[in-house]
Amino acid sequence: MKKNEISILGSGLIGSLLSIYLKKRGLDVHVYEKRADNRKGEYKEEGRSINMALSERGWKALEKVGLKEKVLPLTIPMYGRQIHNEHGQTSFIPYGKEGQAIYSISRGKFNQLLMDEAEKAGVNIHFEHRIEDVDLRNFEITVDNPESGLEKISSEVILGADGAYSSLRNAMLKQVRFNYKQEYISHGYKELSIPPTADGEFAMDPNALHIWPRGSFMLIALPNPDKSFTCTLFLPFEGERVCFENIRDEKDVKGVFQTYFDDAYQLMPQLSEQYFSNPTSSLITIECYPWMLNKSLLIGDSSHAMVPFYGQGMNCGFEDCMILDSLIEKIGTSAWELVFAKFQKKRKPDTDAICQLALENFEEMKADVADPKFIIRKKIEAKLHALYPNDWIPLYTMVTFSSMPYSEAYALGKLQQKIMDTVMANPLITQNWDKLDYEDIIDQLDKAKAV
Ligand SMILES: Cc1cc2nc3c(=O)[nH]c(=O)nc-3n(C[C@H](O)[C@H](O)[C@H](O)COP(=O)(O)OP(=O)(O)OC[C@H]3O[C@@H](n4cnc5c(N)ncnc54)[C@H](O)[C@@H]3O)c2cc1C
Repeated sequence: MKKNEISILGSGLIGSLLSIYLKKRGLDVHVYEKRADNRKGEYKEEGRSINMALSERGWKALEKVGLKEKVLPLTIPMYGRQIHNEHGQTSFIPYGKEGQAIYSISRGKFNQLLMDEAEKAGVNIHFEHRIEDVDLRNFEITVDNPESGLEKISSEVILGADGAYSSLRNAMLKQVRFNYKQEYISHGYKELSIPPTADGEFAMDPNALHIWPRGSFMLIALPNPDKSFTCTLFLPFEGERVCFENIRDEKDVKGVFQTYFDDAYQLMPQLSEQYFSNPTSSLITIECYPWMLNKSLLIGDSSHAMVPFYGQGMNCGFEDCMILDSLIEKIGTSAWELVFAKFQKKRKPDTDAICQLALENFEEMKADVADPKFIIRKKIEAKLHALYPNDWIPLYTMVTFSSMPYSEAYALGKLQQKIMDTVMANPLITQNWDKLDYEDIIDQLDKAKAV
């Protein structure tokens, strides 16, 4: 039987980056991927591509393996949210300080680049190799591929980077004392697009993440280097007036878009066609623990799938790779169980925090951003940050533009939220926000931290 040193399950974003990290440590790395190699032949990624927002944690993990400069040309910076109201008027809310941005990147192209780099480094990626079973007693994986059928491969170390429906996690589920919780949210999503204009330009500002918040549902759009936008429509599956269940034909699609997203509708000539040909996908949160069993470990979405509303799933998974690598650097490769034990202990509180924040941010994106008071709140927090950069850091900044552990950002964010709720309760806040006693707000935070 073939024996691998390291078997990574899945060559998605996290499996591919992880393979590069491990190869650089001199290990023999094999990756098993159920899909065909999408770099060959005519690859179409419409329908489920969804471009991603790459931010500080992701960049840092890429930089550590020398990939930042290679990824940068694939991205477009987005400096803030461009909010579209129902009358087509827009307002811009910066994400952070001037120059701070999150970066739009196509999932498909990014994944291809990471797989190219993995292979260049010497990683063996086995496409069309679906993991059918993981035997955790004998440390064997059963792989199915069209040429040789079912094959058993033994491995010293097994890393499950096979996403939210992980085969390694399924095997762990059969063990005693494995905790597992999954929850589908009420909303699903569908990919749509806005093409370039007739003269080949972007139809909207390319340096913003566009949001059409409508209370219980929303549309967002991120720019692509070919001057199109990839849009994602988030709707409840059922139970509301505007929901996927109630959109049955072209007339329904047009009705919803003309009523709620008319400015976007004017830019979407293929709306109905795309709406009915692209799938409607669901959104899941997964928590489980422990992430390891002997020399096997779950990483990325397989251990902590989250809803996409903080734009952190991939960034968090990349940070996982970097933290795991730092532990390997410190402890070495002769004590994998110790490396994995330290990894899960350090990381679990942080991934719990970001999973929770991602759920909470859904409310902010689909409803709060449309409230004029939300803009005032953001302005007050930006001013506090400008006046006292080390004392008041807005939660979004801590999560997106820093590498502060997510759990610390979460705790501090809650204290700040409480103080801001009191500040915003002032009935004259809209007129007076600029004249507040900002020093007093910082004092309140200091006191809250001391408790
Ligand atoms: C709509 C949406 C928008 C998002 N936007 C963002 C964003 O802006 N920023 C961000 O940071 N994150 C975002 N995310 C989250 C991000 O997509 C995930 O966190 C990330 O893709 C996780 O990567 P992964 O490699 O762990 O899993 P996956 O991307 O799911 O990859 C798993 C891989 O394993 C393979 N596989 C699965 N099962 C098997 C098997 N049995 N055998 C062999 N191979 C297998 C799959 O084919 C796949 O290639 C978004 C998610 C969604 C749904």
